Amino acid sequence: MNGITDKVVAITGASSGIGEATARLLAERGAMVALGARRTGRLDDIVATIVATGGRAIACEVDVTSPSAVANFVDQTVRSFGRLDVFIGNAGVSSLSPMAELDVDGWSSMIDVNLHGVLNGIAAALPVFQTQGRGHFVTTVSTSGIKIVPTQAVYAATKNAVRTLLEGLRQESTDGVMRTTSISPGYVQTELVDSIADPRIREQAKTSMAALGIPAEAVARAIAFAIEQPDDVEIGDLTIRPTRQG
Ligand code: NDP
Repeated sequence: MNGITDKVVAITGASSGIGEATARLLAERGAMVALGARRTGRLDDIVATIVATGGRAIACEVDVTSPSAVANFVDQTVRSFGRLDVFIGNAGVSSLSPMAELDVDGWSSMIDVNLHGVLNGIAAALPVFQTQGRGHFVTTVSTSGIKIVPTQAVYAATKNAVRTLLEGLRQESTDGVMRTTSISPGYVQTELVDSIADPRIREQAKTSMAALGIPAEAVARAIAFAIEQPDDVEIGDLTIRPTRQG
């Protein structure tokens, strides 16, 4: 199956930012989309607008740190749309702070959501892909893992762990059943940095994001590009930055 029309795509972190933009774009281009996140009110609103314009979409409450919740998300997607063509492990959090602040709770939450959450996605989607004989696992990593800067050490570490994971998965998936794609965005205008605890770091991050950030739709288009390739073409790594980002 080529292109995007009629593909079934499950997206975590679809209640805002990149996940929301990706769900909207793929639905507009004819995909059946399952939107997963914790804020179900927002998911319901997004789904309602997609459906109102003729798209096909469902909302599912999912906390990606729970393996059973992610398995249930995949089950619900397959029950609603008959199969799963693409899983986009996109949910993420960024608790930025200098290492010396010892924000151990923030470190844990980034590992739980950004790394464990993606592993839970693989555990849920891989068996379905194997049964179907086809599938595509996409994940949102970051340029934070390419150029490591102060306050982003742990965030970058989780993103590079996922980059490594996906390359390992790719090496184990050369039988043609599954494609893997890691998208590395630079600054994108989303809510990602709004929850940073330290007000000084939060304001710095918000200022950089506002000054430089590209719209989430730009990343959605990059994800769509990876998905729309023919089954025998795999876009492995894709970096997408604001042109002026250092
Ligand atoms: P947003 O904050 O807008 O989106 C993050 C999404 O993740 C939300 O939908 C949120 O939904 C979801 N999420 C967070 N924790 C959980 C959880 N435990 N279970 C399920 N969903 C969860 O930010 P972005 O759109 O920017 O982030 C999307 C991805 O892109 C992240 O992985 C981020 O690291 C990555 N990225 C972002 C960049 C940027 O500059 N914005 C740059 C590079 C990468 P809810 O709270 O409803 O659960």
